[in-house]
Amino acid sequence: MLTEELRAEVARLKRERDAVVLAHYYVPPETQELADHVGDSFALARLAATLPNRTLVFAGVRFMAESAKLLSPEKTVLMPDVTADCPMAHMVRRETVDAARRQYGDDVAVVCYVNSTAEVKSWSDVCVTSSNAVRIVRALPQRNVLFVPDRHLGRYVASQVPEKNVILNDGFCPIHQAISAAEVEALMAQHPDAAVLAHPECGPEALAHADVVGSTAEIIAAAEAGSASAYVILTVDGVRGELERRCAGSGKRFYFPATRPSCPDMDRITSERLVACLREGTGEVGLPPEDVAAAARATLDRMLELGAR
Ligand code: SF4
Repeated sequence: MLTEELRAEVARLKRERDAVVLAHYYVPPETQELADHVGDSFALARLAATLPNRTLVFAGVRFMAESAKLLSPEKTVLMPDVTADCPMAHMVRRETVDAARRQYGDDVAVVCYVNSTAEVKSWSDVCVTSSNAVRIVRALPQRNVLFVPDRHLGRYVASQVPEKNVILNDGFCPIHQAISAAEVEALMAQHPDAAVLAHPECGPEALAHADVVGSTAEIIAAAEAGSASAYVILTVDGVRGELERRCAGSGKRFYFPATRPSCPDMDRITSERLVACLREGTGEVGLPPEDVAAAARATLDRMLELGAR
């Protein structure tokens, strides 16, 4: 429970540190309430690069804070819990990338989802998010695309850009992958009028039931603009707060799979840890070695350049 005293203290600490708090939709609701900006990976990555504040506090998992540091190396980037990491960010091996480059030479682009470590980004040509992946892959000059680390987002991109040969890697988000088609079918049977909105990190069987496939921000926008009065939401349930805020007064109802998809790493970013981080200035995220940082930054810059078009 956030008290007025606590909110006032957070506001004072932000002023003292010249800090801005950026929170992902998947972190706990109280953490989102204390943030200056709440968004998905793409929105936060773009914002982080433009904000004037000296300190960026990233209420999310490690790859997000790492990306912010790469794009704003002169700033102090803090995380409320430095152990909050995305398992999928590590699910690609260097040999996979090297093998694709050997096989296709100049006619392959290595495309990494933003949910990847700085090292993985440094091996890649361009970074994408779930919002811009289709658009960026379509715009690439190469015909062959190695998509890492998420096989499900890669498969979805391949279905939308059939003119490309998209090579899949074996990574996945354990939370989205665990949403089963049987759970989705049960929800659809209980709420036959509901529209199904799904994140492309879900497996193909669950995704086959979706009326709309999109990033977290696109799911929220579809629910806000949609004419249905009920929605089955296939993503992490941290997004419920933003859905309810944005659709307040509309009477719209939201249903999540019974297994309650929640991300244990995002759940680590509690309001208590956020306040401690602001008080003590702990959880600083540093830069990787210069060669890795330079190559990873180029991959992120290419996304911001292509994504802005
Ligand atoms: S929800 Fe999945 S992709 Fe997102 S941070 Fe958690 S494990 Fe990673």
